[in-house]
Amino acid sequence: MPDFHIEHFGCRAARADGEAIAASLRALRESQPFAEEVVVVNTCSVTAEADRAARAYIRRTHRRNPSAKIVVTGCYAQRAPRELAAMSGVAAVVGNSHKALAPQIVRALAQPDVPSSCPPPALLPVASLLASAARQPASGVVPAPIWTDDRFAHSFLEDQPWTHLPLAPGEQTRPNLKIQEGCGNRCTFCVIPLTRGPSQSLSFDAVMRGIHSFVAAGGQELVLSGINLGRWGADFDPSARQSLAGLVRGILERTALPRLRLSSIEPMDWSAELISLLRAFGGLRLARHAHLPLQSGSDAVLRRMHRRYRPWHYAEKVHQLLRALGPDLTLGADVMVGFPGETDEEFQQTLAFVREIPFGYLHLFPFSPRPGTPGWELHQAAPVKPAVVGERISALRALAAEKSAAHRRQFLGRTLQAITLHTPPALGQDGFTASLTENFLPVALRGRFAANQLLPVRITGLDDGHQLSAVPCA
Ligand code: SF4
Repeated sequence: MPDFHIEHFGCRAARADGEAIAASLRALRESQPFAEEVVVVNTCSVTAEADRAARAYIRRTHRRNPSAKIVVTGCYAQRAPRELAAMSGVAAVVGNSHKALAPQIVRALAQPDVPSSCPPPALLPVASLLASAARQPASGVVPAPIWTDDRFAHSFLEDQPWTHLPLAPGEQTRPNLKIQEGCGNRCTFCVIPLTRGPSQSLSFDAVMRGIHSFVAAGGQELVLSGINLGRWGADFDPSARQSLAGLVRGILERTALPRLRLSSIEPMDWSAELISLLRAFGGLRLARHAHLPLQSGSDAVLRRMHRRYRPWHYAEKVHQLLRALGPDLTLGADVMVGFPGETDEEFQQTLAFVREIPFGYLHLFPFSPRPGTPGWELHQAAPVKPAVVGERISALRALAAEKSAAHRRQFLGRTLQAITLHTPPALGQDGFTASLTENFLPVALRGRFAANQLLPVRITGLDDGHQLSAVPCA
């Protein structure tokens, strides 16, 4: 029986989009079996490597199953639709601007006999297109139809009445609820404003509906996510403007959600009200986990990145969070290495800054020049040698490991709340269950437990790989 498969690439928000498309396709398939095999490739384009990985997956899929209809969506489809439309096996390219229509477009391909309501293909001028060299279609390939434009009128999947939000603990024990799309900032290295458009927020009522349905389905932990989550509510009419803190308070006061986790929030969007909610509910129903993208600890580099803070603003935010939650808070950050023109001295400033902050983990990224961004031009003028980038990443990785171990070590002998997750076979065979504490520490829990249970656990060990182990508390 022909069916569909969806392959996810990229960030939490992209995964949330992909899960919403998959849930809608499952519902469509229930109403009418698919007549054609469809593979949806939900792409990322944050780095050149992400583009390469998506193209490789498309080629592999077409080689393995030449009759499968490949639908490409996501940020790469928005940034360079013609490149993808020219590839063998690609049947449709749906940019983020039209992502909400993806289920209907897939349906039209999978159920060709069912009258389709999806609009005709539309490739209207897209600024980022100008920057990317269109690849020539493989010989004999008729470019696929493209749904992409700069208006992003159909980009917010979660906000569409026909979209089934997959909010039940299933494949993902801790699913994302993506409540914000797009970004109005203009960090010079970032392609996302081009590929996801202006900031848009899911309505308060739609968020509450999603959470109530998750709780009703037995959900324990939900992750609020977005492209620039801290901007939720800022795009509402001035008379109806709301804040992320207001939404979080609404969720904690008006729903029975056992545990809420906030994903990445820009440093200056950690408002005093949001921090006070962490102080009041942290460790109970609000996870003591804060992810603040740093990118660099050098003021000069932050200025060239057009980031909206200076190193000392970032440090002050961290101190406000630590005053509210103490050392049990797990603090995480993204750090970029090799931004154009980054000198040894500037990199040493980043190392010194990171050394001063009690991070529990770091996500490290080498700078990747993206077409259509100012960073692309800066890179042409002052690239950092790949070997130097490699050395700097290694130095930061060593520091990050040191800090992670120090952070985890302080919990030995302590009791923390944890949620049980789907356990990898190898860990299960050893008699453990994969778990995550409320303050974002992965723990190997002795015993076999079904996923999606909230349990008190006592931390008993930290191995050489910095893996924590625990036993369930009676
Ligand atoms: S805040 Fe900056 S890095 Fe983040 S999505 Fe917006 S432009 Fe990109």
